[in-house]
Amino acid sequence: MFYNRCRSVLLLTFDHEMCTNFPYRSSVWDHRKGAIDGETRQYLHLLNAQARELQVPLTYFVVASALEELDPGALAEAVRDGSEIANHTYSHVNVTATDPADLRGLYAQQPWLVGQRSAQAVIQDEIVAADQLLYRRLGCKATGFRTPYGFTAGIRSQPWLGTLLVKLGYRYVSSRYAGWDLWHEAGAEAGLDDARLLADLRASQPYQDPDGLWELPIVTPTDCHVFRPWRWPLDRWLQTLCRLVDLGYEHGLVVDLCCHPAILAACDPAAETVQAAVARARSKADGVWITTPSAFVLAQEA
Ligand SMILES: [Zn+2]
Repeated sequence: MFYNRCRSVLLLTFDHEMCTNFPYRSSVWDHRKGAIDGETRQYLHLLNAQARELQVPLTYFVVASALEELDPGALAEAVRDGSEIANHTYSHVNVTATDPADLRGLYAQQPWLVGQRSAQAVIQDEIVAADQLLYRRLGCKATGFRTPYGFTAGIRSQPWLGTLLVKLGYRYVSSRYAGWDLWHEAGAEAGLDDARLLADLRASQPYQDPDGLWELPIVTPTDCHVFRPWRWPLDRWLQTLCRLVDLGYEHGLVVDLCCHPAILAACDPAAETVQAAVARARSKADGVWITTPSAFVLAQEA
C-alpha cells in the first residue's frame, strides 16, 4: 500500500539529453549530449502540455550542458507546472570510470578536457557543476540523480559517489538498470511476455541504502530498447507499457518508466506514451499513484 492508499506507483521520467543521432538510426550515438534540437524542444512543450491536461507531474533528468544556452525553455515551463528536475551530470559522463580513458562521451571526443584531473575528480566536477547550473538556470535544487547509461549494480561500485550525493543534499539516485541483458536477448524484438516483464519489475524496486540515499532503479524495457535495436511499432510499445502498469498494480510495485524525448519525438510524435500509461493507471479501482521520485521518497519516510 502506498501514499493515499494507492496500490502501486507510476513514475514518468524522461532523460533530457542527446538528440541529433535520432531518428537517423544508421549514425553513431551522438555524444553532444546537451544539444537539444528544435524538434525535441517542441516535443518537450507537448509533453508538458499533456502533463498539465492530465494533471500529472513529470520528471526530467537533465544533462546540464543543455542549459548553457540563453533560454531554458521547456524545462522552466516544467518547473512552473510542478514537474521535477533532477541531475543527469553535466555532459553525460560515465560515473563508474576509474580511468580517464573510460569517461566516455565528451571526454572520449575531447580527452584534453580532462587535464590533470583523475577520473573521480572529473565525475565530481560534472555532478557539482550540473547541480549548480540547474539551480542558477531553473531555480531548483535537485535532490535526485540518474547515472548516465545505468548499471546492473548501480553506483555501489563507487562508494564515494553516494557520499558525495548525500553531502550535496541528494535524496535518491536512479542508477540500477536490470535491462542490459535485453540488448542481446534473442527474440526480444518480437515482444516480452508477462513473466519476463514481472521478473524485471521485481528486480527494479526502490530501496534505501544505509547512507540514507534511496535507489530507484529504471524499469525495462525503455524506449531505447524498443525503438532503436528492436524497431518495435508504436502499438507494441504502448501495449507493453500498459502491461507494466497492470503488473505493477497486480503485485503492488513501483514502475519507474524511463523515456527519452528525442526518441519519442521521432517514434511517438503525438506523445501517446504518457496518455496510454496515465489512462491505464487511472482505470484501476484502488488507484495508482502517479508521482515524482522525490515525492515518493518523502512519502516513504513520512
Ligand atoms: Zn542518459
